[in-house]
Amino acid sequence: MTKSTVEIIHELFSDNKLDSFNLKISESKGTVFLEGNVDRWDQAVMAGHLAGSLRSVTAVVNDLMAADTVPELFIRTAGEDRLIGHADVVVIGAGVIGSAIARELSKFSLDIVLVEKESDVCCGASKANNGMVHSGIIQEPDTLRSKLNIRGNMLYENLCRELAVPFYRSSLITLIMKEEELFLLDLVKARGDALDIPIEILSREEALNLEPSLTPDLKGAFTAPSTAMTSPYKLTIAYAENAVENGVKLFLNTEVTGLKAERGKLTRVVTNRGSFTTRLCINAAGIYADKVAEMAGKREFTIHPRKGELILFDQVDFENHAKIPTGILAIGQDPYTKGGGSMVTTDGNPEWGPTAIETADREDTSVTLEGINRIIDKFNSVIPGFNPQKSIISFFAGVRAATYTEEFHIKPSASMKGLINVAGIQSPGLAAAPAIAEMVLELVAAEGFELIENKSFNPVRKGQLRFKSLPLRKKKELITRNPLYGQLVCRCEQVTEGEVLDSIHRPVPALTLDAIKRRTRIGMGRCQGGFCTPRLLLLLARELHLPLEDISKDGPGSELLLRPTKLKPD
Ligand SMILES: Cc1cc2nc3c(=O)[nH]c(=O)nc-3n(C[C@H](O)[C@H](O)[C@H](O)COP(=O)(O)OP(=O)(O)OC[C@H]3O[C@@H](n4cnc5c(N)ncnc54)[C@H](O)[C@@H]3O)c2cc1C
Repeated sequence: MTKSTVEIIHELFSDNKLDSFNLKISESKGTVFLEGNVDRWDQAVMAGHLAGSLRSVTAVVNDLMAADTVPELFIRTAGEDRLIGHADVVVIGAGVIGSAIARELSKFSLDIVLVEKESDVCCGASKANNGMVHSGIIQEPDTLRSKLNIRGNMLYENLCRELAVPFYRSSLITLIMKEEELFLLDLVKARGDALDIPIEILSREEALNLEPSLTPDLKGAFTAPSTAMTSPYKLTIAYAENAVENGVKLFLNTEVTGLKAERGKLTRVVTNRGSFTTRLCINAAGIYADKVAEMAGKREFTIHPRKGELILFDQVDFENHAKIPTGILAIGQDPYTKGGGSMVTTDGNPEWGPTAIETADREDTSVTLEGINRIIDKFNSVIPGFNPQKSIISFFAGVRAATYTEEFHIKPSASMKGLINVAGIQSPGLAAAPAIAEMVLELVAAEGFELIENKSFNPVRKGQLRFKSLPLRKKKELITRNPLYGQLVCRCEQVTEGEVLDSIHRPVPALTLDAIKRRTRIGMGRCQGGFCTPRLLLLLARELHLPLEDISKDGPGSELLLRPTKLKPD
């Protein structure tokens, strides 16, 4: 007699010493529901993973409470029912996924609204990641994560050309450090052949010839030449700007608080600033996508946050660093992360990480000494000639929005017609973004939308001027035309007043210190904003016609000044 999904999960729990907690397990149409109490958060996560590991399980709703963890206090912002607009489609969340979808939909004659709860686009995971456009070789074949990664990678080159976003095929070299693990190389090559992903196997000598800064202790390696690097935040901004240029209406500081339906069909999207009538809503709310999905009436899946910490190094130390991104492949690696790597951002900063830490707190972007040390211990020996302690310039963390099946959850809601959930978009979400947007377009068509071409759609976005990278002659010409390009605001990164003003007045205006930083690199240099912050405050106050006390780091609540100071415009 074949066992039911619930019986198998009970056995898995028993094998993993979770049976003493008497957890309630139920299943309906492929979704598993877990209820009860455990001692620790890692046990709650393990239970979710065990349930999600079964092929028959398509989603896990994990309501386990852990005694060592403060229960999640999710206070929903008050909604405002007053009607503020109508849209054919409302996209929730202006991370790379929501922005890519909005731009894809703007190729058709549709009224599209993109709502973002923060004060800028790109404030979630899309601003805090490695920027790697993975080849797809590490993803489990036959999953959405694999298929959309491979397709996304193929679309990138043309996309970044259209959107004027940095992109380069960096390749990736992955090292085998133990003789007895060299057989893994044949398995990787076989997978590459099956999936049409170019893979080259290298002997120890070939690997060292290709990248001399690597440790001589390596035993073998493979390269994935289709791997590339981009700037995740520049891409997200570019997607959103191009969407706006093509008619999408962007609402910042606008948080979706509820969804309303009549006879099971979506009619309204309610936000803190008012509501939109619509018949289709796309939920691309990242780490909060399960909370937004639940607004349709039922819980369909749970997101469990997984933090990743990263270290950024000074550009000036690039010379001693490996030029090709590097990873390590080993038996027994954490199955839920590719283990991080070393790479160089498109701005030329070496970058190491990320870690992978399960956290109960969706907003936990703290960086710990333990995390930093773990990254340094791992990669110090890989690139022995590089001195990480001397070169660290900054560190940061992002939170992956993982589901317990560890698969992308891209499908119409089972609870409300007119809602499409685009959730669980952890890595390789950036690499897959262009393909996810294509897939969502198919789902929109399946909802009965007639997709009529937008004849005025212009895929090309004019990039933002970077004074520092212009030849001297061009710099002089520019300053003659507009002397504000001769006024340096940030010394370390050589950002001019002209560039700051450009950022404030672009299709997606930069209204905070961090928003200007993402567009210009102001404050990203060695002094990390020590010199330029007061000057930037003054510029923002002047251009936005606001008192200095209203200028914030990244939106309401992060204002820098409490009351008037001696700081005065020139
Ligand atoms: C440390 C780290 C490293 C990574 N490295 C890579 C990599 O190298 N390559 C790769 O392919 N992928 C990588 N990823 C994964 C990648 O960053 C994500 O897959 C991708 O950014 C997800 O984009 P998103 O738009 O779904 O989410 P987000 O960028 O988080 O966007 C969701 C947006 O929704 C908004 N929102 C939430 N709730 C609401 C609401 N109620 N109303 C309105 N707005 C709302 C949020 O404010 C947010 O802006 C990494 C992730 C991390 C954390």
